[in-house]
Amino acid sequence: MMSRIAYVNGRYVPHFEASVHVEDRGFQFADGVYEVVAVYKGQLIDEQGHLDRLERSLDELRIAMPLARAALAQILRRMVRLNLVREGLVYFQVTRGVAPRDFPFPFAAAPTLVITARNKKFPGRDVKAVTVITTPDQRWARRDIKTVALLPATLAKQKAKEAGAFEAWQVDADGYVTEGASSNAWIVTKDNVIVTRQADHNILRGITRMAIIEFAKENGFKFEERAFSVEEAQNAREAFVSSASTFVMPVWKIDNVAISNGEIGPVGKTLRDAYFDAMDQLANDARTRSTD
Ligand code: PMP
Repeated sequence: MMSRIAYVNGRYVPHFEASVHVEDRGFQFADGVYEVVAVYKGQLIDEQGHLDRLERSLDELRIAMPLARAALAQILRRMVRLNLVREGLVYFQVTRGVAPRDFPFPFAAAPTLVITARNKKFPGRDVKAVTVITTPDQRWARRDIKTVALLPATLAKQKAKEAGAFEAWQVDADGYVTEGASSNAWIVTKDNVIVTRQADHNILRGITRMAIIEFAKENGFKFEERAFSVEEAQNAREAFVSSASTFVMPVWKIDNVAISNGEIGPVGKTLRDAYFDAMDQLANDARTRSTD
């Protein structure tokens, strides 16, 4: 068994003893942001999109980038190599740093940067559909910022787990689905229109979501960005969720209402295949480059 390595503020340390200070503002106030990037065939997927979003989240909270973007990208690669990740996830988190506990921003704290990487087998191209439950969206008003304040997501995920469901779809006060606890939510209407909620302050702008919108356009699908109700979803032709670790994951049951027989639908299948094709292409290009 190889020993895992974590990155903490410039040092590569054994995972079991990697730690941050008790007065880190990430620990005290959830004053930090994070990203999760999939690794597939040893390649970071949608890396630029995730780095763009990290910069945006930090900007919104007025936390400095802990190091230059190119340096961070290099460290992410090194973490993939050191942890022998072929298929899995890289997690990175930036907080406002360590300072005596007081709400306003500290005068001179350096941001904390923590990175972990691990192997995780993803479901392949051929996947069975999953089930979702719905739950009231209890989050704050800036869900577009990817903060580590994940208590509402934790409660929603626990509720899903106890119900035997894969994901919880969060529902706003008007009965419209915002997004999953850790994924974006999609439906395909009976007229074959792909629908996902518009990316404003009410949802996280998923990086996978952006890729899927491109694949939908390339495949000539009709696409609309708008809110949909739980009832509309329960009457949809198809439904799916998207995230860096699930890509396109078909949904067949929403709060015990079945919308299919548990197989992936044709639109979901086309989009999931497009995602895997793009990832395979990226891995092939990387192999070609390294043997040039
Ligand atoms: N919404 C929420 C609330 C999430 O936590 C995630 C996962 N990071 C997503 C959507 C999907 O985003 P991405 O495709 O960038 O993983």
